[in-house]
Amino acid sequence: MSSALLVAGIDISKFSTPCFVVNLEALENNLKRLDEVQKRTGAKVLAALKGFAMHPVAPLVMKYLKGTTASGLHELIHGAKEFGGEAHVYCPAFDERDFGKICDLAHHIVFNSPNQWKRFRGAVENHSKASGKKISCGIRVNPEYSEIETDLYNPCFKHSRLGTTLANFNEALLDGIEGLHFHTLCEQNSDTLARTLPHVEEKFGKFIDSQCHWVNFGGGHHITRPDYNVDLLCETINAFRKRHPYVEVYLEPGEAVALNTGILVTQVLETLDNEMPLAILDTSASTHMPDVLEMPYRPQIVGAGVPGEKSVTYRLGGLTCLAGDVIGDYSFDAPLSPGDKLVFLDMAHYSMVKTTTFNGVKLASLATYDPRSQQAKLIKEFGYEDYKCRLG
Ligand SMILES: *Cc1c(COP(=O)(O)O)cnc(C)c1O
Repeated sequence: MSSALLVAGIDISKFSTPCFVVNLEALENNLKRLDEVQKRTGAKVLAALKGFAMHPVAPLVMKYLKGTTASGLHELIHGAKEFGGEAHVYCPAFDERDFGKICDLAHHIVFNSPNQWKRFRGAVENHSKASGKKISCGIRVNPEYSEIETDLYNPCFKHSRLGTTLANFNEALLDGIEGLHFHTLCEQNSDTLARTLPHVEEKFGKFIDSQCHWVNFGGGHHITRPDYNVDLLCETINAFRKRHPYVEVYLEPGEAVALNTGILVTQVLETLDNEMPLAILDTSASTHMPDVLEMPYRPQIVGAGVPGEKSVTYRLGGLTCLAGDVIGDYSFDAPLSPGDKLVFLDMAHYSMVKTTTFNGVKLASLATYDPRSQQAKLIKEFGYEDYKCRLG
């Protein structure tokens, strides 16, 4: 092995590319911050598996958090079997064919509408009678207030299917419901929650006090971002709990669990020119970081600047034959050459769970690194079989 090369606290000389590397110290620091919120408020924090689901680090996650939240059967199985703790599930519409298994595993089930509860209430109650396991059921509401400006991830945009608006909140159907759930934040600070909560309480406060044991404040709380106001979050939750003394509070961040904890280590395979310098990497926006194209956003690369900032600007492209498989334009101090390593920052959330094998591109390996012990651990490498098995 070559000598140590520390990038973002990780010795990247230990990994062959492309490889996602999760920094265990950074992950633990995030979990400690989430635990601080639990300790200061009594709220329970669940890991939203949609954003981060790397089960080899589940024991570390569960050292601090109370459980997981899933968006359907497979995530629920993953949470219950690989993580443990409380298993919560919400789905825009449950499928009767899955529902028996959902009842077997879930502690909380959140329904998207009073009608869904009407459809599945009998199944839940029969399951509880037969198994003796209590399942606490809730309804996702849409408070029709959100500060997210991009429709793609705004659950409150016009005609949104996610959650029930007050106009459709048919209390006649809600006997047996014990909780409410709202999820209207995305990468936001606690001031947004503080402005959102009054809308929830104005619309649904009476229902909360008349029959709720819990309210789930959803995800999108960017709690582990350096400028996040944890004090305001704790004050907001504690004031809510004072107003509703019998109600437990849940938070279910995904991104905040793994924010700034992982990198994608890649290398340059070739350079070329087409009226500007181009470089092709052994990765792909389309397959390894699909949110670059979908959200879209510009990932940060260690040591690279915006176009024109440093001496030479490249357009970085991926391995697929999709013309738009372009990561972006980045400038560097020196020309790139094949074999140069490029390290993408903040790749542990969403990117890792959303990778695909489109075009047969090899999935990136998975690894962990602990700066405290300098221990590198390769968890998994992928190959042709991972592409083939999804096609027959
Ligand atoms: C996506 C999602 C989360 C997690 O959101 P983050 O932005 O990753 O914190 C939590 N709850 C629900 C219902 C979600 O859809």
